[in-house]
Amino acid sequence: MDAPHDRRGWFRGDSDCTPMSFPRRAYRLVLLGPPGVGKGTQAQLLCRHLGMCHLATGDLFRSAQCQANPSPALRAAREHMRRGELVPDDLVIAMVRERHACLRCDGGFLLDGFPRTVPQAEACDELLTELGVTLDGVISYELPVEQIVDRLSGRRVCSRCQATYHMSVRPPRVEMQCDRCSGELCQREDDRPEVIRNRMRAYAASTEPLIAYYRERGILISITADDTPEAILEQTLHLLHEQAARPARVAAVPKARA
Ligand code: AMP
Repeated sequence: MDAPHDRRGWFRGDSDCTPMSFPRRAYRLVLLGPPGVGKGTQAQLLCRHLGMCHLATGDLFRSAQCQANPSPALRAAREHMRRGELVPDDLVIAMVRERHACLRCDGGFLLDGFPRTVPQAEACDELLTELGVTLDGVISYELPVEQIVDRLSGRRVCSRCQATYHMSVRPPRVEMQCDRCSGELCQREDDRPEVIRNRMRAYAASTEPLIAYYRERGILISITADDTPEAILEQTLHLLHEQAARPARVAAVPKARA
């Protein structure tokens, strides 16, 4: 199913997300997974099938590169990203809060790369509660470390539309050129080996605890991402529909107050 996928509000940060009516069920999801697990590919497939908007904080920070006048916050975030460090929680949370209209959109959303730490997850719960929005599920893709390193070294991304390729597993039809929009493919600066090692360490330390966090809330969907993109998508949709059909889904739980 195709949807407007209008992410201008997400990139500009002006909360310009026009609410519209969608003749379908809208999903509100979080995507988890270490770098290189195939999360970006699944995000594209899921958004195409379910019609929600793909809201990736990584895309947001990378977009600073193409903006004539990125805000100081966006520029600072990008400097952290370039070094392979996580952007500080306060900065990320403030930037997502600025874009709250994207979370209220009737078409639903797929949050990718946020939350990435427990404090971000708590802030996300608070924000969603304020907005009266409930998460339908948190999809966690998992894979052994050796397979991840192999995948990352061959990854290339379209500089124009962000479509992802792999030089051996999923190569473009024309070398270094995007099949979809003919944009030039490049290696992300955060896919350089020394940066990858930093990102893996950051994921283990900061993001893995989120798996337990969302499991406790009854909304975690764990998937071993060791198959073709299409097979993983099918499994994801199956588990998602199962989860959505459960009568008593647990909403995002606000942070316990002392
Ligand atoms: P990604 O495209 O999700 O792999 O993100 C690329 C980089 O952007 C990460 O390595 C971080 O430096 C930064 N980043 C993206 N999202 C977040 C977040 N929620 N918290 C902290 N840093 C983030």
